[in-house]
Amino acid sequence: MSLDIASTPVRSGPDELVPSRYAVKVGEIDVLIISDGVLPLPTKMLGHNADSAARAAWLKEMFLPPDAFDWSLNVVLVRSGGQTILIDAGLGLDPDLNLPRAGQLVKRLASAGVDLASVTDVVLTHMHMDHVGGLLVEGVKDQLRPDLRIHVAAAEVKFWEAPDFTQVDMPQGFPDALRSAATRFASEYRSQLRLFDEEHEVAPGVVVRRTGGHTPGHSVVRLASGNDRLTFAGDAVFTVGFDHPDWHNGFEHDPEEAARVRVRLLTELAATGEQLVATHLPFPSVGRVAVDGDAFRWVPAYWDY
Ligand SMILES: [Zn+2]
Repeated sequence: MSLDIASTPVRSGPDELVPSRYAVKVGEIDVLIISDGVLPLPTKMLGHNADSAARAAWLKEMFLPPDAFDWSLNVVLVRSGGQTILIDAGLGLDPDLNLPRAGQLVKRLASAGVDLASVTDVVLTHMHMDHVGGLLVEGVKDQLRPDLRIHVAAAEVKFWEAPDFTQVDMPQGFPDALRSAATRFASEYRSQLRLFDEEHEVAPGVVVRRTGGHTPGHSVVRLASGNDRLTFAGDAVFTVGFDHPDWHNGFEHDPEEAARVRVRLLTELAATGEQLVATHLPFPSVGRVAVDGDAFRWVPAYWDY
């Protein structure tokens, strides 16, 4: 990876060269995938329980650089039954961790013509800073409706009261930044939180379901309308997770449970043939899952534009 490219701020306006949004219809439900930018992260985080030679071989096969590469950061906006639902909120401001290309959500919502005041509900897959940070950007809370509902698993809020970082493998500075973002989010938005235990229907055909694993309250969002289905998997699935579902991602607080969650979800999605979108799959990250021997294969959707 060229550090020069990674540290160049994203240009805004009509000359921005990167694609930043992609629309999909799921029956009657409108889905807009919005890129919050990319996160340059060390490759060891792909599978810190994997043999380093196996990790290097996978990166080579994927034509990825050996030390660090840019992870996508996707956010989803859903419209169903008169509600406008933001699923996750991106990184927000760079918490001094050299992540200058993420945190584009607010600007990109505006360029998509989405007014923050039109958002009726926020659903959080979990409370890591790359999923809640956009709500902590200065001025954002003032633009949101006072009656905004923020749906998050009760187990997630509880976890961040005394988070366990003993099983993660993150670069220096990340645990503190994650703790502080989650704590700030919980205190700033406490009165707007709508907690659920296992499952909650946020809007017609929009169901958030707790999976645990990545974090104890990690949840996925299942969309269903007519015969169409789409699952937003949050951080249950990463790019490497199709070939190596048992590799432990450095951000997983309970990596063994996270691997079980991943295998269960990918097996189910392969059986139903429904569409998958996930936070850190390459933008726009719409695709399907196939079983491939004792692992899986990601089948990207053909772009429709
Ligand atoms: Zn994430």
